[in-house]
Amino acid sequence: MKGSSVQGIEQFIRDYPEMSIAPSHGSVTVLRGVFSFIARSNGGIEISDSYHLHIVVPTAFPREIPKVTEVGRKIPRDGNHHVNKDDNTLCLGSPIRLLKLVSEKPNLIGFTERCLVPYLYAISYKLQNEAGFPFGELAHGGQGVVDDYLNLFGLSSQEQVILTLESLGRKRRIANKGLCPCGCGRRLGICKFNRKLSEYRSLASRSWFRSHGKEIELQLMSRYGMKYLQNRHKYARSVSHGSVSYPDKL
Ligand SMILES: [Zn+2]
Repeated sequence: MKGSSVQGIEQFIRDYPEMSIAPSHGSVTVLRGVFSFIARSNGGIEISDSYHLHIVVPTAFPREIPKVTEVGRKIPRDGNHHVNKDDNTLCLGSPIRLLKLVSEKPNLIGFTERCLVPYLYAISYKLQNEAGFPFGELAHGGQGVVDDYLNLFGLSSQEQVILTLESLGRKRRIANKGLCPCGCGRRLGICKFNRKLSEYRSLASRSWFRSHGKEIELQLMSRYGMKYLQNRHKYARSVSHGSVSYPDKL
C-alpha cells in the first residue's frame, strides 16, 4: 500500500481507528471502514453513532472537498437526507462553505471536524428523533446552495449570487472594473464587497468558480425556467441603466 501525503491522515487514523487506507487508483486517497464519533451541538444533546463510510480524498485537497459515501445504507439515499442522487455521495453542505470551513483548518482533521461530523450529527439526530434537523436545514440541491450563498455573501437575490460567482471567475483586475454584484450600483473595485470577495478568491481556481456558477445557473433555469431568465434580464437592464433595482427574490 502506498503512503499518502494527505495532511492530517495519521491523526485521522489514530482518532478513527476502525477506518483505514484502502488501495486506490491514481493519486486519490481512499479511506474506508467504520467511522465512530461522539458529538454535541451548542446547547444540544450528545450523540454517539457510527457509519460505514467510503471517503475519497482528491489530490487537490484541501482546495477540493473529499467525496463521502455511506455504504452501510443506514442513511436513506434521498434528498431529504442530503444524499446526492447522481452518485450517492453525501451532500455535506454548499461547496463554497465547505471550502471555507476547510481553509480555516486545511487538513483531514479540519474536514472531519467541521464538515463531516456536523453532517453525521444532524443525520443521526434526524434518524433518531424524526424531528427534522437540530439546526437550520438547507433545502437539498441547487436551491439550498443558492440560499446558503445569499447568507454567506450577505446578498438578497439569486441573480446577485450568480453575478458574484461570475466575478470570482474573472481576474480580480477585470472583475473590479465591472459592476458590483452587491447591488450598490458602483464598480466592484470601489465597493467594500470587493474585500469580501477577496477572502473567497483563494479558496478555488477561477475556472472552478466559473463552472460552479454555470452549474447553479442551469439548476435555477431548470427549476424556474423563463421566470429566472426574465429576472436575469430585468436585472441586467437595471444595472446597465445605472439605477439598480433588483427584481424580487424568486
Ligand atoms: Zn457593491
